[in-house]
Amino acid sequence: MKLSKYLVLLGSLCVTLSHAADPHASTARWSYQGETGPAHWGELSPDNAACRDGYSQSPIDLRHERAQHGRGRNFQFHYRPSVFSLVNNGHTIQASAADAANALDSNDDAYTLKQFHFHTPSEHEVNGRRYPMELHLVHQDGQGNLTVVGVFIKEGRKNTALAPLFNRLPAEGEAARSVTIDPAALLPDGYQALRYVGSLTTPPCTEQVNWIVLEKPIELSKAQIAAFRKLFPNNHRDVKPDGGREVDEE
Ligand SMILES: [Zn+2]
Repeated sequence: MKLSKYLVLLGSLCVTLSHAADPHASTARWSYQGETGPAHWGELSPDNAACRDGYSQSPIDLRHERAQHGRGRNFQFHYRPSVFSLVNNGHTIQASAADAANALDSNDDAYTLKQFHFHTPSEHEVNGRRYPMELHLVHQDGQGNLTVVGVFIKEGRKNTALAPLFNRLPAEGEAARSVTIDPAALLPDGYQALRYVGSLTTPPCTEQVNWIVLEKPIELSKAQIAAFRKLFPNNHRDVKPDGGREVDEE
């Protein structure tokens, strides 16, 4: 075999291997502003095509007059205090579950909580209204399907459940630190929710993501919100056309 042919083959093998390591990896650098901001995500990599060409993207403006009621589907949280690994990944503060202790049952399917993270301002809107922040709890089932629970955050009392994170938010590049959090304490009192099918709100904007957006917000203090915004002044994606998608309220 000629050396040049061998090198081409070796090169394609390396690409294949690096993809196999993480099929969902989006290696292109992206951000929330300028030339690598949300308006350009679709152009940064072929992997991000859905960001530009997708028909069921997230977030959306959830409008009550559009929601359908009483379709008989349901969900239930099985959360308990657990260890999470906390990092600043340059896009948000993310807490990744150290084990599969936290579960969500949704539409007769069992999901495991993988990680939770934050956006400011909120990504979803309700009747055109945005909240100061939004928490995303990302769950995956055995087949790799995703259900993300969105929890709005308004300014109010200090959130003691999140104090282990917000008392010292990690800087980018800082080593991961273990924190014990009870994710049940991150949920509001009522579980009234708006459900629809959308996408990841970050590259590669993968679709067929089940969204459960809780209507009642939780609270963070002004100082806690300010601490997050000091690191991330704006890490949200604007709402996308809902395209007449079904939104269920339950
Ligand atoms: Zn998110």
